[in-house]
Amino acid sequence: ATPTAVMVATGKGAALGVLIKGGNSLENAHKVKTVVFDKTGTLTVGKPAVVSSVLFSKISMEDFCDLTIAAEANSEHPIAKAVVEHAKKLSQKHGSQNEHFIEIKDFEVHPGSGVSGKIDERPILVGNKRLMRFFNVVLGPEVDTYISENEKLARTCVLVAIDGRAAGAFAVTDPVKPEAAVVISYLHSMHITSVMVTGDNWATATAIAHQVGIQKVFAETDPLGKADKIKELQLSGTTVAMVGDGINDSPALAAADVGMAIGAGTDVAIEAADVVLMKSNLEDVVTAIDLSRKTMSRIR
Ligand code: ADP
Ligand code: MG
Repeated sequence: ATPTAVMVATGKGAALGVLIKGGNSLENAHKVKTVVFDKTGTLTVGKPAVVSSVLFSKISMEDFCDLTIAAEANSEHPIAKAVVEHAKKLSQKHGSQNEHFIEIKDFEVHPGSGVSGKIDERPILVGNKRLMRFFNVVLGPEVDTYISENEKLARTCVLVAIDGRAAGAFAVTDPVKPEAAVVISYLHSMHITSVMVTGDNWATATAIAHQVGIQKVFAETDPLGKADKIKELQLSGTTVAMVGDGINDSPALAAADVGMAIGAGTDVAIEAADVVLMKSNLEDVVTAIDLSRKTMSRIR
């Protein structure tokens, strides 16, 4: 494209809330045949809420909540925020004043799985099955049943292990964005295939994919795994756009031919992307590709 055409299209995009960072991304976007969507915060609203909780051990609800809060309060993950909010209410209901500050040591974030640390020398883990597997926590049939029942309903389970044993869990829902299904069917009409890639588990991911009309899903992938999936798709000969919002999406956003960050997403994702969707509306994935198609066809 001529510098003028790029400038005009970039200006048009900006007016529509689609920030295009360079001429290259504008030129690549018209070739896109596959759009890979992150799930949490991209296809879903990203405001998860806890809808149920369960105890698997003899711990009191108050202690369970207070220990969970001590661990999750240090995490930036939207799921962690939902868990903390819910656990605070639950803990107050069970008599806690929530006034004492519980210190956590050796706190660690495990991207795509959860958090870990030590409270009073007691190891605590909060996260998904992958985190539990990584730390060799054995999950009994009671835990498995709770997980599979909730995952079928498109909910994500947050497991809490204390002293290496499952203590309890929370089930979290995060509704899909109202425009998601329409955008995916519109992309389909443009001969563009939509794919989901997520760190979340297979059952939840499949249930959400079904709700928005996505047929191809890659679940339980860590941040580098997401980038690998992009590269695999590229090797199969398709030009790939990636849409994401999280730190965990930044390697994939960088690997894609066109990385698109959700404006409401994290700074790291916005930095790694070529295009920023300022309105955080998925319709602007189409806006960006359209703008590129029009710009490029005017040139030829
Ligand atoms: P996505 O790819 O869908 O945006 P992430 O890669 O951020 O999701 O996270 C994948 C999964 O890891 C979450 O669905 C959740 O099960 C788990 N997880 C990550 N961080 C946390 C946390 N702080 N607390 C609980 N669970 C977490
Ligand atoms: Mg996300």
